[in-house]
Amino acid sequence: MLKKILSPKTCADCKICCKFDCTDTWELPVISDETAARVKELRPDTEFIRNGNELTFKSPKLHGDELFQCPALAEKGCELKAEDKPFDCKIWPFRIMRDENENIVITVSELCIGMKNFSDDYLRKFLIEENLDTLIFDYAASYPSHIKSMQKGYKPILKKI
Ligand code: SF4
Ligand code: SF4
Repeated sequence: MLKKILSPKTCADCKICCKFDCTDTWELPVISDETAARVKELRPDTEFIRNGNELTFKSPKLHGDELFQCPALAEKGCELKAEDKPFDCKIWPFRIMRDENENIVITVSELCIGMKNFSDDYLRKFLIEENLDTLIFDYAASYPSHIKSMQKGYKPILKKI
């Protein structure tokens, strides 16, 4: 979905997306029951917790620099097929968030090195020209479990009108 601005090589050299420490397990993707079933086939010992009408991965309690690797991650990357990949992962490093005035906002992670070359204006235009803004806001309306509260380290890019 974001291949026009995020090259596979950039991500292969970085790979920080699918591992979580004690400060960011809230970022674990929200997944459908069907995706959870796919992951369970790959990793039978995976545990889940309910998140609204959907699920997310259950992480063990993490301390210090300990990392929890997404159960779908393998040596060569995510093992899920495109149709099973969580929406949160398809749009990352964009996120759907709710700001202090209850606006739904598309934000971008400031941690993503692949996004550092682009201005906020460029990313805003990209979202609009690719119709990703509509796709993301429509998805958020149908699946509100994917809307996170505004977090440090994320820049607001586009507000839902
Ligand atoms: S943080 Fe950005 S550059 Fe790094 S792997 Fe994730 S999407 Fe790719
Ligand atoms: S589902 Fe796949 S892309 Fe998403 S965090 Fe897990 S391994 Fe990464």
